[in-house]
Order: sequence, then C-alpha cells, then structure tokens
Amino acid sequence: MSNSAETTTKRPLRVAIVGAGPAGVYAADILTKSNEVKDGDVEVSIDLFEAYPAPYGLIRYGVAPDHPRIKGIVNALHKVLDRGDIRFLGNVTYGRDLTLHDFRSFYDAVIFSTGAIKDADLNIPGIDFEGSFGGADFVSWYDGHPDVPREWPLDAKEIAVIGNGNVALDVARMLSKHADDLLVTEIPDNVYKGLKNSPVTDVHVFGRRGPAQIKFTPLELRELSHSNDVDIVLYPEDFEFDEASDDAIRTNNQVKTMVNTLTNWLVEEHAEAEQPSSRRLHLHFLHSPVEITSEDGNGKVSGIKFERMQLDGTGNAKGTGEFVDYPVQAVYRAIGYHGSPLDELEYDARRGVIPNDGGRVLGADGKPVPGIYATGWIKRGPVGLIGHTKGDALETIGCLLEDRLTLPPADNPDPQAIIDLLEERGVEYTTWAGWNKLDAHEVALGAAWNAENPDAAVVRERVKVVPREDMIGISRA
Ligand code: NAP
Repeated sequence: MSNSAETTTKRPLRVAIVGAGPAGVYAADILTKSNEVKDGDVEVSIDLFEAYPAPYGLIRYGVAPDHPRIKGIVNALHKVLDRGDIRFLGNVTYGRDLTLHDFRSFYDAVIFSTGAIKDADLNIPGIDFEGSFGGADFVSWYDGHPDVPREWPLDAKEIAVIGNGNVALDVARMLSKHADDLLVTEIPDNVYKGLKNSPVTDVHVFGRRGPAQIKFTPLELRELSHSNDVDIVLYPEDFEFDEASDDAIRTNNQVKTMVNTLTNWLVEEHAEAEQPSSRRLHLHFLHSPVEITSEDGNGKVSGIKFERMQLDGTGNAKGTGEFVDYPVQAVYRAIGYHGSPLDELEYDARRGVIPNDGGRVLGADGKPVPGIYATGWIKRGPVGLIGHTKGDALETIGCLLEDRLTLPPADNPDPQAIIDLLEERGVEYTTWAGWNKLDAHEVALGAAWNAENPDAAVVRERVKVVPREDMIGISRA
C-alpha cells in the first residue's frame, strides 16, 4: 500500500457518502465545487449510497405531502445528481450489505449522513397502549415509506398530539385535513383511502410551555388556518407570558410574529361565531403529559392526563399540581426525532448522534477516526430546517479536505470494484438511471389518475410507489 499523500495526488480521492437525503447530496455537491477541486489540486470520485431504492431521504419520507414548497427542494437536489459526477447507489444498507471494513477498503473517506428517522421516547405510563403512536412513524406512513405497514388505524374521533414543534403541526394538520384536499399532493392511494375513512372531529395539540416558547415556524403555524372546514380553537387561560417571553417577543421576530398570529386567532375566534366547521384543531399550551389512560383496562387509549404548568420567569415551565384529563382515543407524540446507532461507530445515545468534532467522527478514545466523517442530523441532532444542513456539510467537507493528505488510502479505489462486490453479494442496488425510471413511472401514475378522473377538482402530479419490491422492480427493469 502506498502512502496516502502519494495516493491522493496520483488518483481521484474516492469518497463514499452514506445517506442520500439533503445532507448527503449537499455534502457531495459542496465537495465537487470546493476550491481544491475547482483549482485542480484534488480530483474526487464520489459514490452516494442510500438505504432506500430512491434518493432524497427526509424530503421524500419526512416532509408532509401538502408542503410542495419544501418538496420542491427535490428539484435542486435532482440537478446536482443529474450532472453525472456523483454516482447514486440506492437500496444498499450500511451494516447489512456493506460493512465499515468494506467502505474502508474501497474509499479513502466515508461521510455518514444517515439522519434521524425515529421518534424520541416519551416515558409516561400508558405510552405503549394501543392507539399511542410516534409522530415520526405516522409521517413515514403518510409519506409512503417502503418499510412501514400500509394500513394505519385511523379510528379515533378525538386525538391528542404532544409537542409544539413543526412535526407536531404536520401530524395535526394531516390528521385534521379532509383527505380530498390532499389529493392534489403525491400521497399514495393507501394513505388517501385511510385518511378518507377517518372519523376524526377534534385534534388537540399540547405544548408543555407557553405561546412564546413554541418551536413552530411562522409560515407553518399560519398554514393551519388554510385547512378547509377545520376551525382553530385556542384557550385564553393558556396565554401566559413571563419575563423571558416578553424578552423573546421583543428580540425575536419569529416569536413576535407567531405570538401575534395566535393572539389574533384567539380574538377572532371569540369575536365571531360563524358557521362552525366539521373538524377542529385545538392548540393548548402549558400542558405537560403525565399519563395515557385506558378506561376499561383493555390497553386501548381512552384519555390523556396533563399537569397544568406555569412559566417560571426564565421561559421554562414548572408544575402547578393541577391535573386535567382529556378524552381521546389516540395519542401521537411529536417531541422530536432521534438518530439511530450505526454499526462499528461510537454513538451518543442521549443525543442520538455520532460523536464528532466539527464532522470528524470520534472513536472510543475521543480522538478522530481517520477518514470517517458525519454531516446533517446524525452529526448535530434533529434540529434546524433543511437549509441549515448546507452549513453543516461545508464544515464537514472543510475537515475532509484539510485531512486529505493523511487519509488512510483505499486498498481498491477502482470504482468498478464496489459494483462487483454488490453484484457478488446479490444486492439489488438501484442507480440514478433507475431512479429516473421510477420517477417517470410515478408521474405517469398521476397522469393516469387524471385521465380516469376527468371531473376531479384536482390534478395529481404523481402517485408515489410504496412497496420496496415495486420500487426496486421498476428501477431495475
Ligand atoms: P422540535 O422542533 O425540537 O420540537 C419538539 C417539541 O417537543 C418541543 O415543543 C418540545 O418542547 C416538545 N417536547 C420535547 N420533549 C417533551 C416532553 N417530554 N413532553 C412534552 N413535550 C416535549 O422537533 P420537531 O418538531 O421534531 O422538528 C425537528 C426539526 O425539523 C425542527 O427544526 C423543525 O423546524 C424541522 N421541521 C420543519 C418542518 C417544516 O415544515 N418547515 C416540518 C417538520 C420538521 P420544549 O420546547 O419545551 O422542549
């Protein structure tokens, strides 16, 4: 084996990126556009791996279908991958199809951008009752994730959603919207049918702190009022502001805008009693979940108990000792995502991230593991909007380029070698050309639906293919 400095100057730097969501695509793009590459100091050859047969990670499987603006980021990511200088290899799972040893053998550097897709735990009694769900799991269902069941039990009339972040808003909006208003989106047929049969009348969203401590963003909050035939209900007793709230309203424009929106809704709601809608979306604050209850002791959710909270002056909340019960038949916790451990890498179970220093992955001794990097939510935790991932990738790629002369060189840098290994192992990997076929197929399904439903009020741009085997079959046809 030649030394790394020699190796990297004689041939392209081979880089594997594991995870083709926004974080992975941004990292690949930033690397190819870096000054070092542009100036010709470094040549790179990048393979972008993805566990699903399709690219785009969280945008395909995390963004709500009625958020076309955010889904539109796909167009930018498509352009990057369509250039042809980044090779996409889908349906390849790290730790199952390829090990860390494999990656080390074929690449000089590996960047993990596997994100966070699981729900954070909420440890309260009754959390395992039938009818208690993780918001992230529900998101996976309505986004047609290939590995979750096709059916979702939507039999509750009254539903509690715990959390005051954008995922709670997505979950509450999707649960309360009328299915026909979602037809215009790319929702899979099974999701449309499931939502169409939902008997829901009331969705209650609960935050444990006050209206100035919400983690929503203004656009997403305002959007709640756009749902057809869904009233927003607020409660004056929840509108408590402490010193820290006043500071936040004064100094943070987003907080100010959102508190104004909520206050306006509260005033409007009490000022006029128009034709009531058939569904309601209630926003509650200062409610901390204590217990999910099952009235008949049959293990099915029948209610949820909260402790009323009060602000302590610093923007945090403390219990009042007063408890309230709400009759609900389903509970969704949307209290944050959590990363998952990756084989052979250290893991910070509390934060759900790979321990790292600015993107350099750390070993058990706390020192950087040469040639291994992380970016996106698995690097910094599940916070921030999609665009924030770019800054993250910039930092990680900066580290990689700084280290380039000391990277442990691959034993077999020939790009064909990894393909041969996947073939040898019988891995049904998908390619960029395969994704383009699946993409065109989904668009054609939308067109077929439009032709069959000429009188429908909506035009469907695409219909998502859900089963993994169908996605693979179409991609590899
Ligand atoms: P998040 O923004 O961190 O919100 C989590 C919420 O859960 C907070 O209100 C938090 O309250 C609450 N919470 C945490 N533990 C709790 C507990 N034990 N009991 C009760 N409440 C609890 O997380 P997220 O909603 O999962 O969103 C993740 C990221 O994705 C965010 O950056 C979000 O903006 C982004 N996102 C954006 C969109 C979009 O449409 N733009 C859509 C989805 C997600 P405290 O504040 O009191 O801790």
